Amino acid sequence: MTDRTPINAPGDRESSNFIRDIIDEDIQTGRFGGRVHTRFPPEPNGYLHIGHAKAIWVSFGIATDYGGLYNLRFDDTNPVKEDVEYVDSIREDIRWLGFDWGEREFYASDYFDRLYEYAVQLIKMGRAYVCDLSADEVREYRGTLTESGRDSPYRNRSVEENLDLFERMRAGEFEDGSRTLRAKIDMASPNIAMRDPVLYRILNVPHHRTGDRWCIYPMYDFTHCLSDSIEGITHSICTLEFENNRPLYDWVLDELGVYHPQQIEFARLNLNYTVMSKRMLLQLVQEGYVSGWDDPRMPTISGLRRRGYTPESIRDFCDRIGVAKANSTVDVALLEHCIRDDLNRRAPRRMAVLHPLKVIIDNYPDDQVEYMEAVNNPEDPSMGTRQVPFSKVLYIEQDDFMEDPPKKFFRLAPGREVRLRYAYFIRCVDVVKDKDTGEVVELHCTYDPETRGGSAPDGRKVRGTLHWVSAAHAITADVRMYDRLFDRENPLDVEEGESFKASLNPNSLEILTECRLEPSLAGTERGSRYQFERQGYFCVDSRDGTPESPVFNLTVALRDSWAKIQQSQ
Ligand code: ATP
Ligand code: MG
Repeated sequence: MTDRTPINAPGDRESSNFIRDIIDEDIQTGRFGGRVHTRFPPEPNGYLHIGHAKAIWVSFGIATDYGGLYNLRFDDTNPVKEDVEYVDSIREDIRWLGFDWGEREFYASDYFDRLYEYAVQLIKMGRAYVCDLSADEVREYRGTLTESGRDSPYRNRSVEENLDLFERMRAGEFEDGSRTLRAKIDMASPNIAMRDPVLYRILNVPHHRTGDRWCIYPMYDFTHCLSDSIEGITHSICTLEFENNRPLYDWVLDELGVYHPQQIEFARLNLNYTVMSKRMLLQLVQEGYVSGWDDPRMPTISGLRRRGYTPESIRDFCDRIGVAKANSTVDVALLEHCIRDDLNRRAPRRMAVLHPLKVIIDNYPDDQVEYMEAVNNPEDPSMGTRQVPFSKVLYIEQDDFMEDPPKKFFRLAPGREVRLRYAYFIRCVDVVKDKDTGEVVELHCTYDPETRGGSAPDGRKVRGTLHWVSAAHAITADVRMYDRLFDRENPLDVEEGESFKASLNPNSLEILTECRLEPSLAGTERGSRYQFERQGYFCVDSRDGTPESPVFNLTVALRDSWAKIQQSQ
């Protein structure tokens, strides 16, 4: 199964969206010379999550659709929290999603010299000043939504003094936090972002790319708009929380008189039963609630990949949720529906017994082995068939047998006949139990040799069809059954004083050992995906296990609550 198919970009949808409308208009009026050039600007302070996938799909997908360009830009202005591990993972994840930014990989830190020059320019224009207020004081002077702020006592320093102090900030003469460079805008602005925002702070911390060249670092807001400008971005697509910052970006670019991209905001993706803040995800990793950023329960792209999600299913998901101007929460069942839909068509079917119960076919010859032809995927005949060995001793699923079945149980029970998929009808003739516990440990059955292939010549019917494996041929594997990481729909909806971790689902991982799988699953490649018949979709773990004894991760169970919701509407 290949991960590279054509990208279903946002523009493939018949319906348009408001971002496309803006771009269409800009193209019509020739605003950017007909160019479309977008960017995705992650901060390398964590792994990408499904929300980022949406942002990537929007920015890169739209550029692709218009035959434009897109940049990957690392917004690396906070050396305290950033790391090359994150840079590497971000690259890998975006590539895996199916986007290729070619040579256009940039770093805000590449612009530190130019940004410094821009800051000096603002100082010379009397539009920025060095302020000696502490962080707490800056906050206090800033005012509130209902109260205007107060001017800093340092606001009216002369240009010469500001230039001198800023130069000395850069030279490392001052302590962290002792001074900042601030824009001189308007402390009475109704928009708090415009109340003399900090442009530069002192941080005596080495940077993962610039080493110890700098001890002052530009703030995100200053860096971001200028990076977009430097790169010639036409449409700077971002999430709604940056709407308030747009006037600040406009101010910086207009004051400096530089090229001015159009910022467009859309609603960020929220999913129920999960959190999407990198700070919280980091906490789960650091405190060992999950095995790492790529734990298959994480909403990270690497977690979803390890869980068995395909890039196509994630792009399909983004396509279905679309872009909007209003925040909302998407049902995670839709994401699960998308991967089911994709794997239903692409994943080969296999038989796997997760909770084995031994079955002995009393009237089957001791040493005989027959090879049964099994269909690899009924949705796609081109995937062909395979041969599955059948012999005297088999395993079936424990819960496919009940000694004293209720009315609607159509599977195996004493005296009852069922079909073994692709093989024979069998009838249960005896039940062996553990003397002490009373647990059923073994079934004895007989088979009807006339029913090979799954039907009886005399036309008699059975109501249950079970999957099975041959004991002598099966491989043994661990299977990890995953459930939602949080059992509360909104994990942040906790009691006062409780952490979001109180919403964690204590049963989000169950490891089944001693599962028995049909032998064709031996030696399969890491990451390959299958449907285990009647159970769900599973993939070979990318880290653990060996070819002889692989570890499988549950991607998603077969039951589709989203399809049910859709049907009932
Ligand atoms: P967090 O708040 O979890 O730290 P972030 O938004 O600060 O995430 P960035 O690395 O700055 O993380 O994100 C890069 C881009 O991804 C930003 O432009 C941001 O708007 C976008 N993005 C982040 N989260 C989402 C989301 N849930 N839905 C859509 N876009 C998102
Ligand atoms: Mg951010």
